[in-house]
Amino acid sequence: MEYPERFEQAMSYAGQAVELMKSHQVPPHPGNFAIWYTYVSGNYPDLRRAVDILISNKMDFDEKVLMDLRQKFFGHENESQALHKATQRIEVMLGQMMGVLGNAVQGANNYGETLKNFSDSLQDKEKLGDIQNMLKTVMTETRSIAEANQELEVKLETSSKEIKQLRDNLDEVKREAMTDALTGIANRKLFDIALRESAMQIMETGEPLCLAMIDIDFFKKFNDTYGHQMGDQVLKLVARTLVDSVKGQDTAARYGGEEFSVIFPKTELKSALTAGENIRNNVANKQVTNKRTGQSLGQITLSIGVAEYVLGEPLSQLIQRADEALYLAKRSGRNRVMSQTDLEHASLELKT
Ligand code: GH3
Ligand code: MG
Ligand code: MG
Repeated sequence: MEYPERFEQAMSYAGQAVELMKSHQVPPHPGNFAIWYTYVSGNYPDLRRAVDILISNKMDFDEKVLMDLRQKFFGHENESQALHKATQRIEVMLGQMMGVLGNAVQGANNYGETLKNFSDSLQDKEKLGDIQNMLKTVMTETRSIAEANQELEVKLETSSKEIKQLRDNLDEVKREAMTDALTGIANRKLFDIALRESAMQIMETGEPLCLAMIDIDFFKKFNDTYGHQMGDQVLKLVARTLVDSVKGQDTAARYGGEEFSVIFPKTELKSALTAGENIRNNVANKQVTNKRTGQSLGQITLSIGVAEYVLGEPLSQLIQRADEALYLAKRSGRNRVMSQTDLEHASLELKT
């Protein structure tokens, strides 16, 4: 979470946050303060909307509700805590294993020493009488080393099971951190990573790479007419349609709010445009209905901007070009796909 505001503005937000917490009987500890400060600042529209809905539903901001909000919107703090805990557990476990291994090595050394003494004694004919005693000692040592080995085996097995479980937990935390909670598709974080990786890859292969930025048309009106919950259903529907419309190598992500994006590796502008058109069509052809009431909510349309990566340019430039094509699609009447080539034509038309 970033807080761009300066001192005076931040002080004013802080004051308003405390007042709001007072009026909703929310204990102003740091976790709750983060929620209310962020709410007042409006820096995080999803959080603002969630709190607004709770307020308009006259919900009590009890600990359960507050905890849900903290987890939903500041969950990354939990993730890093989970990572920290897991790392600590791995350290403790490795320490234990090292201890057990140390004992085993010590045991093996002792055993070696005993065997050496024994064979020395065998050379010495005068000591033949002691052989029986020596044999006893060797047998005792053999037994104890066998026991130590068995203990080691059991401990190693337990540890490796626990390590596997920890790895699964970490994978789960990582997966959740990269998934958009509402729609279940890739979130902005995964989008950033995937785009960076795709760009790195084409540095080696020289293959083309395209990006589509997608925005739902008149979505504010939809929300205002049918409510945010229906709006959320539409976001899920669009996300599902996106994933179903693209190939396995492509990454469809929720870029933020009602904006989505698709990364098309190994794809030329022309094919990316076709893919964009396909997405636009698949969404526009769906009839949205309220499952509960059966009421038809009409058609949802998308505006899409497509751009192709120029090797070596900053990724922000590629995103900006796709964004500009998207806004050209909006200006040209929405429910359409435009590309960076259309941008060039549009600016030429402006000049003449
Ligand atoms: P345009 O065609 O120009 O894109 O118009 P628009 O109304 O879609 O664009 P605008 O940026 O004015 O409004 C975006 C709306 O998207 C406003 C906001 O309430 C809604 N929105 C953003 N995130 C969510 C969300 O998570 N759930 C719901 N239901 N609505 C959201
Ligand atoms: Mg938008
Ligand atoms: Mg929109």
